Amino acid sequence: MGDTGFVVMDVGGTTTRTGHYLPDGRVTGVRRVPTAGIGLDPGTPVADLQRRVVEQIAAEAETTLIASGASAVGIAFAGPVTTAGRVLAGPTVWGGGGVPIDLADLLRDRLGVPVTVVNDLTAAVWRYVSGPGEPPFCLVTVSSGIGNKVYWDGRVLLDEGHGGELGHWTWRTDADAPPCDCGGRGHLGGIASGRGVLAAARSDARYDHVSYGPRDRLTNEILVAAVRAGDPLATETLRTALRPLAAALTSVFCAIGVRRFRVIGGFATAIGARYAELLTEALHEAGCFGLSPAEIDGLVTMGEPDDDHSLLGAGRLLTLDGVAG
Ligand SMILES: [Zn+2]
Repeated sequence: MGDTGFVVMDVGGTTTRTGHYLPDGRVTGVRRVPTAGIGLDPGTPVADLQRRVVEQIAAEAETTLIASGASAVGIAFAGPVTTAGRVLAGPTVWGGGGVPIDLADLLRDRLGVPVTVVNDLTAAVWRYVSGPGEPPFCLVTVSSGIGNKVYWDGRVLLDEGHGGELGHWTWRTDADAPPCDCGGRGHLGGIASGRGVLAAARSDARYDHVSYGPRDRLTNEILVAAVRAGDPLATETLRTALRPLAAALTSVFCAIGVRRFRVIGGFATAIGARYAELLTEALHEAGCFGLSPAEIDGLVTMGEPDDDHSLLGAGRLLTLDGVAG
């Protein structure tokens, strides 16, 4: 890397953040703007929203580029992105539909510096890559939905856009299975996510107790606090939700042997170390073929308790000049 660092951006459905990634690995001068997409202006035709978002990204990147004199731009985008930096979709950014956008090429032409565009969770993976010898790991995010990415030998594993979709792995096929935000039913992301755990608690009459407040007004904050305080019912609700997640992770382990699972995402991070303990218990219960109990104990670690994974990861990716996926 040159000593001028990089411009890094995290383009999400709600907020777009832009910062200056310094050679020492810190990000400074982070600016937040509401993303000019479907969240800000629902009902606008997708083609218009795509134009507005691209224009906003270019303008934000340009501002920081001029102010910092950075040598390249790295963008983490909330949607599937090809290795060439072509954005295939942006359901939370500009809604369903829309044409693929060659975002890296467009921005390179406009800004006159190298531009790398990757999926936001792919960017997050790179935050945890210390260098070329980094052993394989699977990053798992548990927030309102669930996502994952596997890092292996210098790259994030995907096959032509497929992979990283454990959140849409089907656990339940019965007619009452909870809905997933993709429109499907019984998917892991509708069961083991923060949203899934909350839905399970709200439909459980045992929560009709003064200590939780009115059941239809239960929130993730109330449940998180209850789990952290050792509340038996909230812990049981979470344990039930973690069973399918553990099943999914043991499948990943059995298939490819990855032995490190790093958990990020607002819901899991809010519960913290107790989340890792309970997930580890569920992994013991599920079994991990060929691993000793001590090895199973070492499978899960929590990620850093902040929301800077994609920003820092985009900078790390440019620093290591890694292969994105
Ligand atoms: Zn789904």
